Amino acid sequence: MRVAITGAGLAGLSCGKYLADAGHTPIILECRDVLGGKVAAWKDDDGDWYETGLHIFFGAYPNILQLFKELGIEERLQWKEHSMIFNQPETPGTYSRFDFPDIPAPINGIIAILCNEDMLTWEEKVKFGLGLIPAIIHGQSYVEKMDRYSWSEWIKKQNIPPRVEKEVFIAMSKALNFINPDEISATVLLTALNRFLQEKNGSKMAFLDGPPTERLCKPIVDYITERGGEVRLNAPLKEIILNEDNTVKGFLLRGLNGEPDEMFEAHLYLSAIPVDILKLLLPQPWKRLDFARQLEGLEGVPVINLHLWFDRKLTDVDHLLFSRSDLLSVYADMSNTCKEYANQERSMLELVLAPAKDWISQSDENIIAATMEELNKLFPQHFIGENPTKLLKFHVVKTPRSVYKATPGRQAFRPSQKTPIANFYLAGDYTMQQYLGSMEGAVLSGKLAAQTIARDYPANIIIS
Ligand SMILES: Cc1cc2nc3c(=O)[nH]c(=O)nc-3n(C[C@H](O)[C@H](O)[C@H](O)COP(=O)(O)OP(=O)(O)OC[C@H]3O[C@@H](n4cnc5c(N)ncnc54)[C@H](O)[C@@H]3O)c2cc1C
Repeated sequence: MRVAITGAGLAGLSCGKYLADAGHTPIILECRDVLGGKVAAWKDDDGDWYETGLHIFFGAYPNILQLFKELGIEERLQWKEHSMIFNQPETPGTYSRFDFPDIPAPINGIIAILCNEDMLTWEEKVKFGLGLIPAIIHGQSYVEKMDRYSWSEWIKKQNIPPRVEKEVFIAMSKALNFINPDEISATVLLTALNRFLQEKNGSKMAFLDGPPTERLCKPIVDYITERGGEVRLNAPLKEIILNEDNTVKGFLLRGLNGEPDEMFEAHLYLSAIPVDILKLLLPQPWKRLDFARQLEGLEGVPVINLHLWFDRKLTDVDHLLFSRSDLLSVYADMSNTCKEYANQERSMLELVLAPAKDWISQSDENIIAATMEELNKLFPQHFIGENPTKLLKFHVVKTPRSVYKATPGRQAFRPSQKTPIANFYLAGDYTMQQYLGSMEGAVLSGKLAAQTIARDYPANIIIS
């Protein structure tokens, strides 16, 4: 069957890939001239790449890892030492590490925590461990129930000292959802901790070896087209046109550059566009349906991704760093971490600015000035003296609505991939799957949607 998919982010592309595996014909319609959505990247006039987001792959991402394997591109993941590295704001220019030894979980995680003596006292570690006991005993069902609390509320409820939140979990919370612990649902952090502590390599991190658009999205497109599918750029969905019975008659695509609009018809239809845009495009008759009303509870969170090129090396750390700064979240020196951006002489820092709600409408120059102030604290030795490091150029990429804001209670609003409309399905990191708003969540949502379609309209091949 011909399945029209709107949106060529990881959810739409993964859905297309697994539909092709199932013997269907996906046609992916993307509004922009670039693949990847929130993993999109562009080349500037100097030939340097810049990206929508600094993206990290975890050992606890089974669906993405399987996808890389199925595409035959596993070697493109550059795995780093099994560690988590934090800046130490009190002693600028130094780092504190959690190093996971190569032994089974959860012992490797426990040793990593016990051996770190910079960030938490023994009493704090013991109290944190005791607070986690219900999550360890009751597992995911407990984790899901905790969606009624913010992380700050949960920490308090479990009698965990507030310093544990300040030292470790502000950074984790900003890294996972671009918001602070008083806003983020306890379910998000407990889910991540569960994976990191239960799976030996759960928290092991990898960087892609180049821009995701080229190194990940392109091979998926090739896979789809080799199997008879199609991916069209510059094909924005303008309106979902309905039949009299409120099923989908077609996707109306907006004509660009003076071209007329185009009615695109297929057997089945799937939305893999972000929830904020889908809400605007829902046809009137669907708005009274539960699945459409459910979407009203979800909204994307703002975030800003920064790229700064310097005239020399700032660090030789080949890993993700948790900045522990108020302004910034995680960052990495991509000249060390990523093969295609490698440079022996000069650093290119990619940094995530979060929470970004007060910065998203500010000028790029203001954002960069504030970031440079933070970098003076993180790398003081480089920005003082007679010959301070110079910023050569920068790019600022703003995403006003990125992944859904995972505040308490959001789990109840996440829709299934199957809708009550017989020929209309959903994919996207916000749809219900166990990996929250992430690349893994997006890929899994696309796969679940493809599996649902394959069950509803069987071809003769089964998706593993
Ligand atoms: C700064 C940043 C850092 C991140 N870091 C990480 C990380 O380290 N690890 C991790 O796992 N995840 C990370 N994420 C999250 C991850 O990028 C997303 O969860 C994932 O890429 C979302 O994929 P998606 O397909 O669901 O949505 P999207 O990527 O948003 O794809 C939706 C697509 O729909 C298209 N579209 C929109 N409107 C229309 C229309 N009208 N017609 C046709 N097409 C349309 C868009 O252009 C887009 O291509 C990060 C995100 C950001 C922004």
